[in-house]
Amino acid sequence: MEDFLININGQIHNGPEAQISVFDRGFLYGDSVYEATRTFNKKPFRIDQHIERLFQSAEKISLTPTFSREQILSEVLKTIHAGSASDATVRIVLTRGTNSDLGLDPELSGPNNLIIFTKEIKPNPAWWIADGVSMIFFQKKIEASGSLPKTGNYQENILAHKEAHAQKAYDAFLVNTHGFVTEGTTSNAWIIKDGVLYTPPLKDGVLDGLTRRALLEMAKRQKIILPLIEKSLNKDDFRNCDECFITSTTRNIVPVTKIEGRNVGSGSPGVMTLELLKQYLEFVN
Ligand code: PLP
Repeated sequence: MEDFLININGQIHNGPEAQISVFDRGFLYGDSVYEATRTFNKKPFRIDQHIERLFQSAEKISLTPTFSREQILSEVLKTIHAGSASDATVRIVLTRGTNSDLGLDPELSGPNNLIIFTKEIKPNPAWWIADGVSMIFFQKKIEASGSLPKTGNYQENILAHKEAHAQKAYDAFLVNTHGFVTEGTTSNAWIIKDGVLYTPPLKDGVLDGLTRRALLEMAKRQKIILPLIEKSLNKDDFRNCDECFITSTTRNIVPVTKIEGRNVGSGSPGVMTLELLKQYLEFVN
């Protein structure tokens, strides 16, 4: 918390001093949307796309932004430049606002609260690349399809992550009510089988990840070594793949070497996964 600089509605605070009302609807009901991005050399990664996705998430939960895209961008840049880190994590949270009373009615709320967190981003731990990470499967109970909004309600993902830790795994792959694997709790999911790269389609209930989008864009421009197909995938597709990895803006590409305690492929980070990571970093830098 000490390392954070936090912008609340335009005012920048040090982490421990940043405060928001207990009547904020994000606190009361998870009634908010958010984005997580990072900077490379002080430049925020794909910030226009992140702000656009924030607005798309807001639309999906009928949250009418009282800040414009330009205002949010300007506050993001202000926060980044107030800090000294050249590589920083940037979290943008937009809540529906502060309620005048308890109660669900959005009419009780004033204008949105915009909170931007930033702090230096540490490089990925070396063991992620040396050994890869382990995953479990977590069965979702809530039916969800299509491209998911990124809201302040991550309860199923939290339970999945908690279960993964209870089983000494790094994280969980979520499985939808139709038996298809959708994504990690804060990442998109990928497998490689017989020289083809696969990722679940958005229709299965997947966040339209911007790292995912970058890889799709690279594939279209033939800037990756493998053909890429969006396809519904079940647990056995993951169990029997040659290589597996997860992606997110703050972590890039992380090899998965164990699923449910069993080795993926040889049990070491996949050769093609590591090559994709190299190509991805060249592409985004
Ligand atoms: N899926 C979920 C549920 C996430 O929370 C995230 C990121 O936080 C991702 C996927 C990856 O998205 P991105 O590549 O935009 O970071």
